[in-house]
Amino acid sequence: MKEIYLDHNATTPLNNSIGRIINKYGKLLYGNPSSPYKIGKISRMEVEKSREKVARIINCSKDEVYFTSGGTESNNLAIQGSLNYLRRFGKINAKKRIITTEIEHLSVLNVFKELSKEGVKNYDVVFLPVDNFGFVDMEKFKSSIDSNTILISIMLANNEVGSIQSIKEMVKIAKSKNKNIIFHCDAVQGLAKIRVDVKDLEIDMLSISSHKIYGPKGVGALYIRKGVNIYPLFFGGHQEKSIRPGTENVCSIIGFGYACNLSRVNFDKNIELLTELKKYATNRILQEIKKITNVRINNPENNCLPNTLSICFDGIDNELLISLLNKEGIYVSSGSACTSESLESSHVLLAIGLSPNLARNTIRISLGIGNTKKELKIAVGKIRKIILKNKLILRKN
Ligand code: PLP
Repeated sequence: MKEIYLDHNATTPLNNSIGRIINKYGKLLYGNPSSPYKIGKISRMEVEKSREKVARIINCSKDEVYFTSGGTESNNLAIQGSLNYLRRFGKINAKKRIITTEIEHLSVLNVFKELSKEGVKNYDVVFLPVDNFGFVDMEKFKSSIDSNTILISIMLANNEVGSIQSIKEMVKIAKSKNKNIIFHCDAVQGLAKIRVDVKDLEIDMLSISSHKIYGPKGVGALYIRKGVNIYPLFFGGHQEKSIRPGTENVCSIIGFGYACNLSRVNFDKNIELLTELKKYATNRILQEIKKITNVRINNPENNCLPNTLSICFDGIDNELLISLLNKEGIYVSSGSACTSESLESSHVLLAIGLSPNLARNTIRISLGIGNTKKELKIAVGKIRKIILKNKLILRKN
């Protein structure tokens, strides 16, 4: 059975050539990058070459790139690290406001939830609502920023519905109110699917992750603009300027660097392909499935990731559909991979105004550069068959 993978926002398959590079370097580059002799120095050189590749895709200087274990750690380090610095160095003397949105990935949302807990008295936490397509209302955003606001964290693109926020405009608004506000952006889903330029965004910190761009898992980076201060979450050696100590994950960092390079060089070609595939999938779903049940497209038509479709099939339980598709070798999800094992409805779908029932009727299809129209035709055909069969079962009962 040929497998059809349609869940690229959860993770992407490792690029073949990167896989070969990692295997090759895995044996050769065993030296610790901090060691003073030849094999250590070679490892150091490769880590620094990768840092340059990562810096290039987001347009920053290599000194502003800090390697981490992935998007989750980058988000935690950015938010907790910058607040810890302010607290430690006396800049928090009253209750301070920190702002995020209701549709963040859990690695941001749960940090803000922790900071809003009763025992933590230092923060007045704002979770901004979004509209029916997952966009933050600019007026609400503006009015939420007060003179006590010290940190804002808003994602560039949403992992479930694909909405792309106007981060550049938001940064401008925030800085015009108070230039000391720290603005962090989770760009894990945006990288390689839309252009990410930290200088153009004028952002203070930005998180990215390797496994969403066909690189290895367990590695990512945090961009920290020169002049922005972070207090580390871990303490140890001097790696990553002591902001993120621990022996570097050399092979994965090398793979991440290559993934950034490939994504940058092939950007236009990849976006064209994804856009075409998404249009094809959307049309086929509307043509084939609208005849048999109501279909609601949750993702916005414009300002949306070129690979992300969030579709609600009226009355069809998404877990059942996903598990029956799985038996056919077709892999889609109900939303974020991090929440797929919980029975709760997706917080993103509820935030865009779906009822818990409609949220449970929603699947996410996230396309990748390895997909073909033929695969999409097969997948939509299988969805149709399953829905028809399922409806029959429902009717019999
Ligand atoms: N942020 C977003 C928007 C994501 O989609 C994800 C992963 O799904 C993460 C952060 C976490 O990244 P990682 O899996 O590298 O920890």
